[in-house]
Amino acid sequence: MAADLTTVVPGQAYPSGPGHRPVTGPGVFVGRDESAFHLATTADYFGWLEHVKTAAGCSRPVRLTGEIATIDRATGRLLASITTAELPDGEIYKPCGNRRHAVCPSCARTYQRDAYQLVRAGLTGGKGIPDTVAAHPAVFVTLTAPSFGPVHTQRSDRKGRPIPCRPRRDALHCPHRLPAGCQRVHADDDPALGTPLCLDCYDHTAQVVWNHTAPELWRRTSIALTRHVHARARTLGIGWVPQVTDTGRTRRIPPVRLSFGKVAEMQRRGVVHYHAIVRLDGVDPTDPAAVIPPPDVFGVDDLAAAVTHAAATVAFTTAGHPANPTGWRITWGAQVDTRPVNADGDITDGKVAGYLAKYATKSTETTGHVSRRLDGDTIDLYANPHGTHPERLIDACWTLGAHRDWQRLRRWAHMLGFGGHFLTKSRRYSVTFRILRDARTIWRRTETHHQHGHPADDETTLIVGLLTYAGSGWHTTGDALLANTAAAMARERHDTARHELAAAV
Ligand SMILES: [Zn+2]
Ligand SMILES: [Zn+2]
Ligand SMILES: [Zn+2]
Repeated sequence: MAADLTTVVPGQAYPSGPGHRPVTGPGVFVGRDESAFHLATTADYFGWLEHVKTAAGCSRPVRLTGEIATIDRATGRLLASITTAELPDGEIYKPCGNRRHAVCPSCARTYQRDAYQLVRAGLTGGKGIPDTVAAHPAVFVTLTAPSFGPVHTQRSDRKGRPIPCRPRRDALHCPHRLPAGCQRVHADDDPALGTPLCLDCYDHTAQVVWNHTAPELWRRTSIALTRHVHARARTLGIGWVPQVTDTGRTRRIPPVRLSFGKVAEMQRRGVVHYHAIVRLDGVDPTDPAAVIPPPDVFGVDDLAAAVTHAAATVAFTTAGHPANPTGWRITWGAQVDTRPVNADGDITDGKVAGYLAKYATKSTETTGHVSRRLDGDTIDLYANPHGTHPERLIDACWTLGAHRDWQRLRRWAHMLGFGGHFLTKSRRYSVTFRILRDARTIWRRTETHHQHGHPADDETTLIVGLLTYAGSGWHTTGDALLANTAAAMARERHDTARHELAAAV
């Protein structure tokens, strides 16, 4: 595996000095303080910690070996070069970068921070997005899946007081002789939440097909939404804007466009739903990439109406399957929530960004099912047509996926059929994760250099790595413990400082 250069570089600005000597190897310690005590304690320990710093909190870092060179951009001259053999452990450590909290809490934290910044920049500007976006009409939308059978749920009355799950006066039973209602008030941690009242009545098959098709349903909805917004612009008398094409012809293009940022959240019942920010932008015919304010007459209510309309009308039928030759009808559920985002309402940009970022690090954990991709050897551990709710969902994926045209359901069985991305955005909505990662890389490199009196100069130098994959994970449990503890302490110091700062202002 060839390594991605820009993400490997940050921890690799290795200045000389006693804190940066390898832990092992012959004649390795030639620093200023050569006492054995120093060697056995501070120097090596801190040197090693400094070495693994960028990956210290990671549960399972990627280890790389090879050569890293610093090159003068202008002349191409080699300024410095180092091989990982000269470094502690003979390797460099790179964080695994996993988004999921259940897999790597530390990397998920970084991802969540990036997701927050990304979503927020789309609402307030910053990171290269113009500040004027803060005044664009924007709505926060939640689109849910339809019902596939009654599940245990938490409900409350208008005053927010908890009320029974599914109260019924009649004593009706389902064909499997189970009560059709539920008088219980479920606590937050009740494992019954999200599970069907009757597992045999529940349509697990339709649900995994819905999960599987949700990205297509979203795609069609976003197209319908755009059409609706364009039609509304016409009604409002907003003229189409002239644009000169490459061939010199003039054509008229729609005066507004939509930008989206969205996350998929897996609900307890094992079905995804979407939280999306929909922002209205103007169109600059001379610069299609520019993000500019839309015409004033187009308000947030127009936008909200378009979302409600699209969510209620978009529907399609899937291809047939031997299990259902006429195909499944795919629509959104009846619960569609659309709220304006504004700086001083109850749906603020910070709140929305925090909410989306939180869900971006989750997956199927809430359903009680956490697994890696499943295959013929592992499927029996997780799938059971007569088992628990998640086991039946996975079984439905595997069974439907046996058909040639539905194989992707097997590939995504561990996601209960959902094969989409958990966080996506349209091109112009905001910055990318890549930009945020690169910004962090540059900052870290600058920081490391400054600490040792070498001002970093990213303008004039280029760092090139020829690195190959050496392995995954820490070498020993002790290493993992040391690195993770140091990272946790650093984080704590950082958080304390931030809280003190926040309290001071
Ligand atoms: Zn990690
Ligand atoms: Zn219940
Ligand atoms: Zn039943």
